[in-house]
Amino acid sequence: MIAIGDELLSGYTLDTNSNWIAQRLRALGHQLKRVTQVRDREQEIVDQVRRDLGDPELSDVFCTGGLGPTPDDRTFAALGVALGRQLVIEKAVRERIERRLTRMVDAALVDSAELNEGHLRMARIPAGPLAVLRNRVGTAPGLVYEVEGTRLFVLPGVPAEMKAIFAEEIEPTYLAGGAAPAVQELRLRFAVEGRFYPVLKELEETHPDVAVGSYPNFDSKELVLRCSGSDPRRVEEAASVLRKFAESLGYSAVQP
Ligand code: AMP
Ligand code: MG
Repeated sequence: MIAIGDELLSGYTLDTNSNWIAQRLRALGHQLKRVTQVRDREQEIVDQVRRDLGDPELSDVFCTGGLGPTPDDRTFAALGVALGRQLVIEKAVRERIERRLTRMVDAALVDSAELNEGHLRMARIPAGPLAVLRNRVGTAPGLVYEVEGTRLFVLPGVPAEMKAIFAEEIEPTYLAGGAAPAVQELRLRFAVEGRFYPVLKELEETHPDVAVGSYPNFDSKELVLRCSGSDPRRVEEAASVLRKFAESLGYSAVQP
């Protein structure tokens, strides 16, 4: 996942898109390997897109941001370079923007339904997408490209638009069929994380197929021990080892 935008790197905007996509991918049974935030600089976007597309472990790359109508949004130009494709006005995108503008004129939100340079910027995309994805919420299109077997999903930065396109257009067509991992959590109040070292070490050896993470929360004063994996029985086994160990230290689990 690549989150694109100067506002993210200068701390004005929290990158909630990555977190939301991470949650959705987990629920759909896909593991997210890496999230990168990059500025609206063409070469920096090109470098990151090439790196991710060139990573043999990745089947899909998602990027959000930088698709707006103003000159500070440079994602399409950068993707043109990264994919080695010309920027062309995509008829389907142009027509969607025209229809949207007509509706905005009807609603008296804008004066003219004529496409200006800003609108054309949003329709001028790297040639040959696999699909143009419908954006029910806004103007910028969502796009999918296929590059040597890896799919590249291009989404607007506006969270509501990104989420609508992801949920309505991407999930059912491109990401369905997987299963979320089994998860078991132990929440322990006032538990000291360091005391769990031996049991966590043991589980690494006995249950390498179960990911066990230890997450202290300093606000709620809870230690969360989270086990996840594809086999619910193995996850339950690991959780039960942890539960017994916690009890032997005198901690009892908080009900979630
Ligand atoms: P853009 O698509 O770059 O024109 O982004 C439009 C707006 O979406 C920005 O002004 C930000 O407020 C918001 N935005 C962009 N990227 C993100 C992100 N990763 N997380 C949350 N909000 C974002
Ligand atoms: Mg931007």
